Amino acid sequence: MKDYLHIEEVAKRFGETEVLNGISLTIPKGGFVALLGPSGCGKSTLLKIISGLETETAGRIRLAGEWLAGVPAFRRDIGVVFQSYALFPHLSVAENVRFGLDMRHMGRAEADDRVREALALVKLDGLGDRMPRQLSGGQQQRVAIARALAIRPRLLLLDEPLSNLDAILRKSVRVDLRELHDRVGATTVMVTHDQEEAMSMADKVAVMHDGAIEQWGSPEDIYERPATAFIGTFVGNPP
Ligand code: ADP
Ligand code: MG
Repeated sequence: MKDYLHIEEVAKRFGETEVLNGISLTIPKGGFVALLGPSGCGKSTLLKIISGLETETAGRIRLAGEWLAGVPAFRRDIGVVFQSYALFPHLSVAENVRFGLDMRHMGRAEADDRVREALALVKLDGLGDRMPRQLSGGQQQRVAIARALAIRPRLLLLDEPLSNLDAILRKSVRVDLRELHDRVGATTVMVTHDQEEAMSMADKVAVMHDGAIEQWGSPEDIYERPATAFIGTFVGNPP
């Protein structure tokens, strides 16, 4: 389907403040798109609206042919990974991964299979009985990704997934995450303020500035032909 995720003129205001002013974006099935922009430009707010954690003030979103307005977050089948991983510290790795499955009242045998499958996808086979604190930061982040993948999401949303990792780990996890995407094929939207991350991982990049998309294109397009002086400066190719 050409427009698997279709975002149409989405706007959001908090009180008097316009945080998103008419975002339109179309993403094909299986694509890996980055939303790139400085802190405060509205990236997380857009992800929250897609996932159903915030409500848009105007506009609409369609996923796999379904308009999402009024569909509660847990029925959207969207996997979300936040910067802080948000693992439950008192639950084992396997219990963390099965959390979304329990919410969906999945039977025990099927859920066990899904947990094993998801942990294998992120290369954490056999670590289900560990507690989160017994894992490295990079491994904890993979548990959060496994938890998002276990529900077999229609869409995977990653909000600054690498920014809590140290610089060396960040580079290797970039490659791992892209490789995982290519294996699993989940349509992915990743938010980042790091232009290198966006450029090296995504097929297409939407550069956001002050609540609007200022340029949409391939990493090469954006780097070689930045549409505005702001973008040129932001991606390291100033006018
Ligand atoms: P980003 O993820 O790009 O850093 P955010 O989407 O988190 O940006 O925030 C965009 C703007 O919206 C910021 O100015 C932020 O202060 C404001 N904002 C975000 N959430 C709320 C909220 N719940 N209430 C009021 N203002 C908010
Ligand atoms: Mg944010």
